[in-house]
Amino acid sequence: PRTTPALLYLDAITVAFDGFRALNKLSFTIAPGEMRAIIGPNGAGKTTMMDVVTGKTKPDEGDVVFDGSHDLSSMDETQIATLGIGRKFQKPTVFESHTVEDNLRLALKADRRPRATLFWRDSSEERDRLDAILTTIRMTPDRGRLAGALSHGQKQWLEIGMLLAQEPKLLLVDEPVAGMTDAETMQTAELLREINRERSVVVVEHDMAFVRELGVKVTCLHEGSVIAEGSIDQVSENQRVVEVYLGR
Ligand code: ADP
Repeated sequence: PRTTPALLYLDAITVAFDGFRALNKLSFTIAPGEMRAIIGPNGAGKTTMMDVVTGKTKPDEGDVVFDGSHDLSSMDETQIATLGIGRKFQKPTVFESHTVEDNLRLALKADRRPRATLFWRDSSEERDRLDAILTTIRMTPDRGRLAGALSHGQKQWLEIGMLLAQEPKLLLVDEPVAGMTDAETMQTAELLREINRERSVVVVEHDMAFVRELGVKVTCLHEGSVIAEGSIDQVSENQRVVEVYLGR
């Protein structure tokens, strides 16, 4: 098996649906501790890329290696999650009739035992981790509120908190600021930067103001391949990127 210093290594990944290449020799790497923004127009292959990394879709060709030597193409979704890859989908799926705190408690307990219930007593370690996650997602004052009563932005943060309960090494986040207010968008950038102090993050995003605010390296996909990589300024001045976004 291939070994690499990268946390996530994709090399010449091809995924075809009925002969159409959603990913076409896609290659990029994420370093340990890095946060990366992935951009690209609709249909560029961003979702398919995340499906490959999480094991939902198997590549037809190419290598996908996690944390040095784990060949993800030979693992199922559960094994990959256990290795330390968490995925935040666009739509939040919190338990609306539970409080913020109970949503997080369930996530913390499920991390230990899949069929845990809220009736189990919290260990002191669980209480500490709960408090730490509430601080990270800035929801300590909201801990007793029902999740169903939260704003859209707060639900997104709560779901990110639930993923943090699994202590992923790599967090994949799909369009976190879609539907958020400007204030929530800026707070999300801050939140992700804080999370990035402890773990690697890949953010797929359309909102360029948000990507600029994140201030991290950007990879632009188009037709299943990388067409540009660098700072947001470098990428947004790249001629191919300009053409692709203007639809020429
Ligand atoms: P993005 O997330 O960047 O919008 P996707 O990864 O969703 O792009 O899609 C890339 C391309 O692959 C699109 O043209 C899409 O229509 C196609 N595609 C994605 N999933 C499937 C599928 N299950 N069957 C057929 N075509 C698909």
